Amino acid sequence: LPHEFIEASPVIQLIEQAGYEAYFVGGSVRDLVLDQPIHDVDIATSAFPAEIKALFKRTIDVGIEHGTVLVLSGEQQYEITTFRTESTYQDFRRPEKVEFVRSLAEDLKRRDFTINALALKLDGQMIDLFHGLQDLNKRIIRAVGDPQERFHEDALRMMRGLRFVSQLNFDMEEQTLLAIQENSHLLSKISVERIAIEFEKLMLGCNRKQALELFLQTKAYQFCPQFQEHKQELIQLANLPYHKVNDTIEVWSLVVYTLAIKPENVSSFLKAWKASNQVIKLVQSILFGMTIRQTRQLSTYELYQLGSESIAYIERLVCFFDQEADPTAQVRYHALPIHSLKELAVNGRDLMTHFHKDSGPWLKESLQKLERAVVEGQVSNEQQKLFDYLEVSGLY
Ligand code: ATP
Ligand code: MG
Repeated sequence: LPHEFIEASPVIQLIEQAGYEAYFVGGSVRDLVLDQPIHDVDIATSAFPAEIKALFKRTIDVGIEHGTVLVLSGEQQYEITTFRTESTYQDFRRPEKVEFVRSLAEDLKRRDFTINALALKLDGQMIDLFHGLQDLNKRIIRAVGDPQERFHEDALRMMRGLRFVSQLNFDMEEQTLLAIQENSHLLSKISVERIAIEFEKLMLGCNRKQALELFLQTKAYQFCPQFQEHKQELIQLANLPYHKVNDTIEVWSLVVYTLAIKPENVSSFLKAWKASNQVIKLVQSILFGMTIRQTRQLSTYELYQLGSESIAYIERLVCFFDQEADPTAQVRYHALPIHSLKELAVNGRDLMTHFHKDSGPWLKESLQKLERAVVEGQVSNEQQKLFDYLEVSGLY
């Protein structure tokens, strides 16, 4: 067993010694079989949340109503979730209420895909009630049980399925795919936030091409914010050359750029996807730079306006559009005499004192003029030189 599981084994042992069952479940077992890096080790147990809390000194209630208790063990933390069923699905979403059960089989039955429905006992025994191992071998995503039913219970599973196609580089089993095709409209019942997380993971995955093609083919895209009118551009997105997408900023920059969203519409586009203002601001500046890079290098002043973070994104992302990154961009940025207005050798107060003038529109204009002149190397960033420069240009 990899060290992530070894480290967690005292936790499972303690639960077993208290007379309950406990298993490794979910993504970690799948990734173990696939020999892929393991993120978080999830544990499922027959013990009820209160029973888990009684067993461990350090616990945090992260989702008691869903049966999940976080157990802190050494440096690690584990989500320990009581076996549960989700019998009463409402409105095509996962229910708010769950029912705790003592049977592992019941718990595995409500999981989304066969490859995610494996349970591993500490002694190495694999519980594989739905041929998940076989599907891992064949590299296919197959719903547990009747796919139609499962997507009716929780429509988000369709997006999860598509993201696993991308993440794991798997194919979608035929009946499962058909069921997505028939039920993709149910995605409109799912919160945008949850769809966005799955879409981002799809874009970050190594097989986004095939996943995006299925996203189009099943019409799932039509039930995502802002995508309805962009079929052609989404095809282009699927066909972008293969480079790794590193983070969600890159995801949304590529989307907005490839879909040719106008600068003035970027904010509302990303707001519809529930992006934060911080993300929106960064993507807007990246889009500004990428548009310039279609035709030329970034100018000195543009580098200054964009800043190091945006420049790094822009020069990475131009590779998706058959452009070569400009290795001088960061060098030129770092060589700038100033990197923000604060570094200018004069401030507003200095100008008012020097020119014996009250505050007014002239002040802001003068500072901007100086800022630009310094950045572009027309005057050096020294107080007297800056006063002289303004005097000569007659701006103050
Ligand atoms: P990741 O590597 O992204 O964490 P994961 O498979 O672990 O992938 P999680 O969202 O962490 O995904 O969920 C853990 C497990 O819970 C899944 O493997 C699956 O068994 C189950 N699960 C999660 N979401 C659903 C869902 N919507 N419907 C049914 N089962 C689900
Ligand atoms: Mg997980």
